[in-house]
This record gives sequence, C-alpha cells and structure tokens, in this order.
Amino acid sequence: MSRQGLTIVHTGNGKGKTTAALGLALRACGQGQKVAMVQFIKGSWKYGELRAPEFLPGFEIHPMGRGFLDLGGQGPHPEDVALAAETFAVGRDKVLSGAYDMVILDEVNYAVDYGLLPVEQVLELIREKPATVHLVLTGRNARPEVVAAADLVTEMREIKHPFQKGIKAQRGVEF
Ligand code: ATP
Ligand code: MG
Repeated sequence: MSRQGLTIVHTGNGKGKTTAALGLALRACGQGQKVAMVQFIKGSWKYGELRAPEFLPGFEIHPMGRGFLDLGGQGPHPEDVALAAETFAVGRDKVLSGAYDMVILDEVNYAVDYGLLPVEQVLELIREKPATVHLVLTGRNARPEVVAAADLVTEMREIKHPFQKGIKAQRGVEF
C-alpha cells in the first residue's frame, strides 16, 4: 500500500475536535504506528487522555501550556506567546524527526487565531513535513490558508451542547 501523509484539520465551534484526534491516535496505534500529541494551552489538568500512554502502546502526549490563557491585558500575554513558540518547536521537531507516523498539534488553530503563533510557521510545517507523516491540526477558527493547504478538513458544528442547559463538564466526556 502506498503511504501518503495527510494534513488533517478539525475545526469549528462544536465539540469533538480533540476527541476525534484521539480517535485517530487510537486507530493508528492499533496499526502499530507511533503517534505524538502535543497540546497548546492545555496544562496537566486531569484529562483522561493524559493516561492513555499507560494502556496505548505507541502513543505519547505532551500538555505544554499552563492550562489557561491570560486574557487580562491588551492582546496575548508574552508568557503565553513564549509557551506557544516552545510548544510549536517541540511539535515541529517531532514531525521532522521521522520517529512518528502521526503528529497531532492540539489547539494549534486556536493558538494562531489568538495571536500566539504566526500562521506562516504552521504553513511552513505543512510544506516541509516528511511525505509519509500524518499531521493533525485541531482547534477553532482554523485560518483559511491552513484549510487551503490541508488534505482533509472537518468542521464540527454545534447543534446542541449540554452547557446550554447548565450541565457541567462530565468526567469521561469532557475531561
Ligand atoms: P473535545 O476535547 O471534547 O473534543 P473540542 O476539542 O472540540 O472538545 P475545545 O474548543 O478544545 O473543543 O474546547 C474544549 C472544551 O470545551 C471541552 O470540554 C468541550 O466539551 C467544551 N466545548 C466544546 N465545544 C463547546 C460548545 N459548543 N459549547 C460549550 N462547550 C464546548
Ligand atoms: Mg480541543
């Protein structure tokens, strides 16, 4: 079978962008592939997926943010910008290393949208990635340039969300 690495985007306001990426990871690892998920903004809060490497051979996950964005100032906080640059560098190294079949940059679209990361860097990574590596980019408000450069783009559209009824985040569904 000929292998072609795809650039895959999960965007939109509906729930399911990160969890669909985790579904891809589950499927790829089941094929004996190696998958790294590098997470922008997220800190080491108790997401169930942080324990996945304990039971999913081939999977690793790196939450690299501080769990929140400092929204207090005029525009992005320098610390968040620095963390996003560091997170991107780690993700880029993994893509270029050849050690992974799939690399997921979780919330990268949102990091770009919020001004933490120049979109050019993401576009350059799409161009320079090894031909067999699948690159998965998640997060709301994916830039049109990123959508144009991708091979597979899915927009999650909200039809209903329990938050609208005041139902709090549920273990196993949200975290
Ligand atoms: P998930 O990680 O559950 O797949 P996501 O990656 O699509 O969600 P994010 O933008 O990363 O969504 O937001 C993460 C959190 O916000 C999740 O707890 C999710 O349930 C919640 N969320 C996502 N979409 C909505 C929505 N439309 N209304 C309210 N909360 C939402
Ligand atoms: Mg998400």
